Amino acid sequence: MDTTLCFRTHAALLMTLTRSRQPAQTPDIALHVARCSECQALRVYVLEQLLPGVDIPTDSCSVCDADLAAYVDMHLDQSASAAAAAYPHVWWHLWSCTDCAEIFAQTATLAGAERAGILSPLPTAKATLAKRRRVIGRLNVAPQVVARFVQTRALLGIAYGAEEPVVLDEGEDDGYSFQLSVQREPDGTWKVLVSVVPPVFGVAVITIGESTFQVSFDPQGIAQISGVPATLMHDGRSAISVSIEAL
Ligand SMILES: [Zn+2]
Ligand SMILES: [Zn+2]
Repeated sequence: MDTTLCFRTHAALLMTLTRSRQPAQTPDIALHVARCSECQALRVYVLEQLLPGVDIPTDSCSVCDADLAAYVDMHLDQSASAAAAAYPHVWWHLWSCTDCAEIFAQTATLAGAERAGILSPLPTAKATLAKRRRVIGRLNVAPQVVARFVQTRALLGIAYGAEEPVVLDEGEDDGYSFQLSVQREPDGTWKVLVSVVPPVFGVAVITIGESTFQVSFDPQGIAQISGVPATLMHDGRSAISVSIEAL
């Protein structure tokens, strides 16, 4: 058994008993718990601490899915323990199902970004702003390129720490030059950065796989999203495309 992963899983499980709002379950932890009897035993213990006498919840994707969005909201707005106590079946299932843990990580990232105000729901924004916007540049990176890059980076950079952004695509058009870079953060998630020179007043619409983010450029001409789950980057299905739009 991978003991590092055991330690991480123990720490994540125990966060359930705290007021932490940090999403704890991840696909790699779920993969581990599914195989590790020690971590499974700790999951039972934590449940017992949280809700004494409660039955072991039904372990099912559809039961989990029905309440996943509500679980994420409560997790981010209140705490890990409040969400787990209100939706123990979701909490339970996310520790051992990699598919649902991945959906959870992505949903939590998007919901967190919305709360931080860096993401506005696209349909509304499209309806109200699309007419006034002008696309001044586009950047695209194919899914295989993203996956290969992230996997190689993971192999090389065992030590987490500050890393420099790496340019994946660049372009020039109409007097502007653009760059799309990615940077691995100390917690293993990724930051995606778009820069435009000279700076413009506008937004970058960044699509990673099926998730779309809309981020304003700062006065230096940089738009960025943080906390992109590594799974979203290396699953080999996620292209990154960017549309740079001046207001
Ligand atoms: Zn373990
Ligand atoms: Zn599931």
